[in-house]
Amino acid sequence: MLNGGVCVVFRMVVDGGTGTRCEWEGRWNHVRKFLERSGPFTHPDFEASTESLQFMLDTCKILVIGAGGLGCELLKDLALSGFCNIHVVDMDTIDVSNLNRQFLFRPKDVGRPKADVAAEFINSRIPGCCVVPHCKKIQDFDETFYRQFHIIVCGLDSIVARRWMNGMLLSLLVYEDGVLDPSSIIPLIDGGTEGFKGNARVILPGMTACIDCTLELYPPQINFPMCTIASMPRLPEHCIEYVRILLWPKEKPFGDGVGLDGDDPDHIQWVYQKSLERAAEFSITGVTYRLTQGVVKRIIPAVASTNAVIAAACATEVFKIASSAYIPLNNYMVFNDVDGLYTYTFEAERKENCSACSQVPQDLHFSPSSKLQEVLDYLTESASLQMKSPAITATVEGKNKTLYLQSVASIEQRTRPNLSKTLKELGLSDGQELAIADVTTPQTMLFRLSFTS
Ligand SMILES: [Zn+2]
Repeated sequence: MLNGGVCVVFRMVVDGGTGTRCEWEGRWNHVRKFLERSGPFTHPDFEASTESLQFMLDTCKILVIGAGGLGCELLKDLALSGFCNIHVVDMDTIDVSNLNRQFLFRPKDVGRPKADVAAEFINSRIPGCCVVPHCKKIQDFDETFYRQFHIIVCGLDSIVARRWMNGMLLSLLVYEDGVLDPSSIIPLIDGGTEGFKGNARVILPGMTACIDCTLELYPPQINFPMCTIASMPRLPEHCIEYVRILLWPKEKPFGDGVGLDGDDPDHIQWVYQKSLERAAEFSITGVTYRLTQGVVKRIIPAVASTNAVIAAACATEVFKIASSAYIPLNNYMVFNDVDGLYTYTFEAERKENCSACSQVPQDLHFSPSSKLQEVLDYLTESASLQMKSPAITATVEGKNKTLYLQSVASIEQRTRPNLSKTLKELGLSDGQELAIADVTTPQTMLFRLSFTS
């Protein structure tokens, strides 16, 4: 799994014990100040020693998920903080539009895997640091892979991927007689940014609020109210949405049945011109080609400084947990510099009946005459579940039966008629267990059908 000769040489040197690597006098002084003396903010149980630094340099293994805007910052911050043993997972390749903020990449790297280039950059720039790249999806790895890490840091832009990672770490937990074995916990540090807003959070799976506990904090995509778009536009975005939603299907500028393609410059140009006309009608300024494309493609501009702040907060938490020298963030920090600068920390609470981390099968309350479609709608629309394409199976008369599965076309076709059947017609009974699989988690979730009269 080690990548390249540099890492192997480095490992051999480390095996020799203390301080024989390519070090220089005072190299880690900036870190030693925090670990080798006490201070007003150190953890109550903290004892100053040289061991924490040695652990970070030699043993501590960190996984960074994502090598994009947050990932580049994270890798740099962690490597310069003394973490020498880092893996990075990212399935993307470098695009020219990444170069303004993803500073480990150069124009010559466009088209290459982000993970590979980021690792090469850090490994060549920071002596002794070994970043192992994986140009893969997080779903391509199993429990054995994830179990090898001490701490996992996420710099992702996808909620589904976050939830999957959260589910994976929850699946690694070991319970004995209902009591959680603390050694099975891998802390998850999660960073997220959206324009000028960001958040950093510390999750101790099974102990503190997980991603799914606070799913309501990630509202489904914001859409403008239709009445605003249709009759009272105030923002340039309203004008663009008017053209996108109402004018395009009406005027069919590129022929019947031609959908709006955000990557087609002719399409964007048409929407842009029509949006300008609409904006002029209501004396609204600010419609530009760039904004038009942004609204059509739902792009939220990435802001380098937000990434830098959030990654720094995440790397600090990794440092605090790895060294045990400071009390970690408890447990959710929001950052906003849209107008001025604002940060706020609060303790997100565990949800007692969280479908991901509560260990309790969820009750689904439906009437026997409800249709399976209603159950499916609930699973995808409920703010606390927000599933994407749930597959539902049940044991009926001793047989495992797939009630509905969307992801395989042939099975979808075969099970589609079930959607319009009632739960009773499907042979389901009160208290019946339903096993539900979805892309938001690596585990199958158990639900219990509770019939209402
Ligand atoms: Zn939870």
